[in-house]
Amino acid sequence: MNIAIIGAGVSGLTTAYYLSNGTLPEGSTITIYEKAPAVGGNANTFNINLPDGKGGIIPRWVDMGVNDFNKATYNHLVSLWQSIGIMNPDKSSSFCKPLINDESFSLSGGSLYRYTVEKDGSINVPLDGEASKYFLTKDLATLQAALKAWYIKWEKEGDAPLISVGEWAAQQGFSNEFIYANLYARINGMYYTQEQGSQALPPPANMPLWMVAHYYILQEGYGNAIENEEDVWSRQYFVNGSQTWLETFAGILQQTRGVTILYNYENLHVDLLPTGQPVVFNGDQQLGVFDRVIFATHADDTLNMMDFKTRVKDPMIDALKLFSYDTCNVVVHQDASVLPPKGDCNKTYNIHIYKYDSSQPTGYPYTITYIVNYHQNDPAAGINDPLFYVTVNPFTPIDPSLTLYQTNGQPAATTFKHVKLDANAMRAQVIIDTIQLHSPEARSFYYAGSFSRGAGLHEECIIQAIDIASKIINPFYVTKQTYVFNENGKSAPPDYILKALKRKEKKH
Ligand SMILES: Cc1cc2nc3c(=O)[nH]c(=O)nc-3n(C[C@H](O)[C@H](O)[C@H](O)COP(=O)(O)OP(=O)(O)OC[C@H]3O[C@@H](n4cnc5c(N)ncnc54)[C@H](O)[C@@H]3O)c2cc1C
Repeated sequence: MNIAIIGAGVSGLTTAYYLSNGTLPEGSTITIYEKAPAVGGNANTFNINLPDGKGGIIPRWVDMGVNDFNKATYNHLVSLWQSIGIMNPDKSSSFCKPLINDESFSLSGGSLYRYTVEKDGSINVPLDGEASKYFLTKDLATLQAALKAWYIKWEKEGDAPLISVGEWAAQQGFSNEFIYANLYARINGMYYTQEQGSQALPPPANMPLWMVAHYYILQEGYGNAIENEEDVWSRQYFVNGSQTWLETFAGILQQTRGVTILYNYENLHVDLLPTGQPVVFNGDQQLGVFDRVIFATHADDTLNMMDFKTRVKDPMIDALKLFSYDTCNVVVHQDASVLPPKGDCNKTYNIHIYKYDSSQPTGYPYTITYIVNYHQNDPAAGINDPLFYVTVNPFTPIDPSLTLYQTNGQPAATTFKHVKLDANAMRAQVIIDTIQLHSPEARSFYYAGSFSRGAGLHEECIIQAIDIASKIINPFYVTKQTYVFNENGKSAPPDYILKALKRKEKKH
């Protein structure tokens, strides 16, 4: 069987890995075609020149997109790393280190509303800060307890209390301060749900409650001690950047799994032969006829590559059109004005949001600023190096004179696309899977990109890769989809969230 994979991000590479485990027929080939000159995609690490303040330059790396994972919850990533030999059985690895997980929140516009959450979960509010330590401490504890109670109710009644985040937050009696300056800010940050100008998405209040659980458990490691004794320090950054492990992984695929990776294929497109077989081109050049083509790209890029999309009436094409994207601008700089004053909230990252206005429930834009020296505190870099920051979606333009440069002379700035995780997207994931299972003609193409599974975090890309490899080997393999819809069309929590909560419940 000859397989083409388009895209060499984590989705494309992991799909190649699970396909090359010896279960394909003898003589099968796997070829990855990548547009860029390197693997990585959203796992994009820049090498930058950091001015040392004395006229010299310190070479550093910086993650522009993907920058952390959680050892306690990214179980598939952990077992993949262990099987390729870059993580030990005790989960130690030279490829990752604990993130400094102290976090700080502040409102934009010079407000004194700010606070930090320390390693042990305690709250610190600067003496001149407006935030209420009492409310924040109480609300964070309520959040934990309420998530647990929600899960128990779900278990006993056999049905999830499918309420929205807004309804649930009101029931819990959270302070507005907590809802607007913490809960919704984090949901925005995680799901890109309500960026300025994006009207098509629900505000956080209208999202399903389990999304809160998804964020806190999978990514942030909230309730992190769900397994073993791992704590908040399970959250890891990638030593030398997130692209590094994927480069190592690509080397392993080529050297030990016979996978071919080809770069700089900038004009790929795919058509169908009358036999229904896919044929891949780069510009005018035909690259080959394949038995299977796996798109490990974004949904919109995937559609753009399909020459047959206007010729063939195909429900799969309609499903791909259900995904929409926002952009996400990232800039590396030394503009300290984006941080809270006095350096009292600057240990790791800082989420800036506008001061909330309950009469304007659709306006919660946000920006996240990482202080790279602390957030990704690679000791080799020297903790006393001048501070530099990564800002995602800046509210105000960063002073160009304070923008840093890559070692290749280009500004250290980039733009990513991020799928909007709205109800259409969640439904489309289920539709794609259903079509794939029931329609033999759909099985020439598979969709591995991050849009195709859950919120598209690394862990979910790997789960999708395993499922796609299983489906190619056995077309009747049934995927346990992340989202489940009941008759009213409401979504239920992902299975692994429920499992994680269950483990947590047993432990306490
Ligand atoms: C700003 C940001 C931060 C994130 N942070 C995290 C994080 O900290 N932790 C986490 O787990 N997840 C994070 N994510 C989610 C992240 O997107 C996924 O975990 C994962 O990296 C997506 O991988 P992918 O392979 O599906 O897509 P991508 O990484 O986008 O890879 C797609 C690949 O396809 C290539 N390609 C595109 N079009 C074509 C074409 N026409 N022809 C050939 N090749 C093409 C691209 O060049 C790219 O290499 C973040 C996402 C963003 C946007």
